[in-house]
Amino acid sequence: MKKADVIEFYARLAEADPHPETELEFVNPYTLVVAVALSAQATDVCVNKATRALFREVDTPEKMVALGLEDLKRHIKTIGLYNTKAKNVIALSQMLIDDYGGEVPNDRAALERLPGVGRKTANVVLNVAFGAETFAVDTHIFRVGNRTGLARGKTPLAVELKLDKATPQPFRLHAHHWLILHGRYVCKARTPECWRCIVSDLCAYKPKTPAPKGRSLASPSPEPDIDPATGEA
Ligand code: SF4
Repeated sequence: MKKADVIEFYARLAEADPHPETELEFVNPYTLVVAVALSAQATDVCVNKATRALFREVDTPEKMVALGLEDLKRHIKTIGLYNTKAKNVIALSQMLIDDYGGEVPNDRAALERLPGVGRKTANVVLNVAFGAETFAVDTHIFRVGNRTGLARGKTPLAVELKLDKATPQPFRLHAHHWLILHGRYVCKARTPECWRCIVSDLCAYKPKTPAPKGRSLASPSPEPDIDPATGEA
């Protein structure tokens, strides 16, 4: 995509949603780490349903360790892979207490040391909790980057590095939220809704999806979050 088109692309998404936010619910950086770790291969809606009650009681690593593994499993048993995720959350909470004074570190390498925290989770935490200009490539961004021509790549890391290079100011801070929301609600995996897409003329994807007969132009239902590496929901 040409530089002028990239600017126009982001400008339109920004105008439509000037203050995009993560749809995951959290109350502080620690609960953000937990929520993002729980959201792997699960929808934000599903995670929020489970964490709403949990975070009312438990909002620090110390409280999580005191809650214990079995009680944590009880809270999150509606989330896929909850056994492994619960073990990771208890282990990462213990590491935060032991190595970081109970605080979430503002540092990529330190975040990626935490059990269950990979590059994508670290990027979300750095961006949302600490205001870093990072690009957390999930299944939606991976798809939108490749379809549009904004950032093509065979792996999430390749797409992330291209987005980092291609995305200018003043769009860098919110870019990944705009792209996630665009992929979740408009540029859906099975059928991209090109007929109502505000960046259709800038996007390289062909052929564009025509408006289905008898269907409303507004279609707010979100796409499920599916991991690009595994294809699982
Ligand atoms: S035109 Fe279609 S493929 Fe391109 S970004 Fe919009 S919805 Fe996605």
